Amino acid sequence: MRRICLALFFCSVMAVSVASAQQPAGINVLHVQGNVYMLVGATGNIAVQVSKDGVLMVDTGTTQMSDQVLAALKEIAKPITNKPLQFIINTHFHPDHTGGNAKARAFGTTVTGGNVAGDIQDAREGAAIYSHENVLKRMSAPSGAQAPTPSGGWPTDTYFGDRQEIFFNDEAVQLFHPKSAHTDGDSIVFFRRSDVVLTGDIFTTTNYPIIDLQNGGSINGIVDALNFILDLTIPAAKQEGGTMVIPGHGRLCDEADVVEYRDMVTIIRDRIQDMVKKGMTLEQVKAAKPTRDYDPLYGSTSGFWTTDMFVEAAYKSLSAKK
Ligand SMILES: [Zn+2]
Ligand SMILES: [Zn+2]
Repeated sequence: MRRICLALFFCSVMAVSVASAQQPAGINVLHVQGNVYMLVGATGNIAVQVSKDGVLMVDTGTTQMSDQVLAALKEIAKPITNKPLQFIINTHFHPDHTGGNAKARAFGTTVTGGNVAGDIQDAREGAAIYSHENVLKRMSAPSGAQAPTPSGGWPTDTYFGDRQEIFFNDEAVQLFHPKSAHTDGDSIVFFRRSDVVLTGDIFTTTNYPIIDLQNGGSINGIVDALNFILDLTIPAAKQEGGTMVIPGHGRLCDEADVVEYRDMVTIIRDRIQDMVKKGMTLEQVKAAKPTRDYDPLYGSTSGFWTTDMFVEAAYKSLSAKK
């Protein structure tokens, strides 16, 4: 139950923070570079890759926005290809990133395997949904509890280990799985030719990192994953542009933005780690305000992910027995 509450809570409150950044009730489409577009307005950011082979999308936004998302996707694809949506990738299981899965899957068409030729015309099951296996575990609740997500939205192709690849539209699309970051089922998606990275909620521009402890997240894992993202990104000559980074929530970024965020998270992590080592209680850590200098940019005292909640999650994550 707690898991469902937490997920719904991310979903509903994230909507507030993101909606304020663009026109209400619509999807804004931004051509990032190469074959990749960014869709903003379905709470979690969405990436769409379109070329001659058809359409691949990463994350599907909330259930409520799925019709608008698919309408925007059709508009993007129309002048480029008449081939269908074939692949959906989920960066993690939260419903602000997977709520549109069922409709998007039904809208698309499965073609056998990412690297395999040949449509199965009579097996029109819809688009394939790729994710790390822990996304399916979280969605299907195999422990016997009621499944939090209807089965039509579950991943159809999961991977285990730390990477997976799909070759589509003459482009290698790589999925990298950090063991434990925002959740325990995150994928960082890298479009190699287009030079675009989609981070899921490991990186957001709108708040302190969300550590979903109940679902396997950890602050050390987030720091490691941010460093990994920086291994993938290369700036252009004047330190701006180059590899573009689509965060889970917020505006389009480049490497410099991720560096700044990584530094912030690392500094706060180190401060809280020192306090934990000194044996300070959670209340003492909160009173010491380890985030104070960053609060104007990322802090909040109300809403979906307050500074207090971040400090508490970081404290618990760093206090946990290994
Ligand atoms: Zn999110
Ligand atoms: Zn999330």
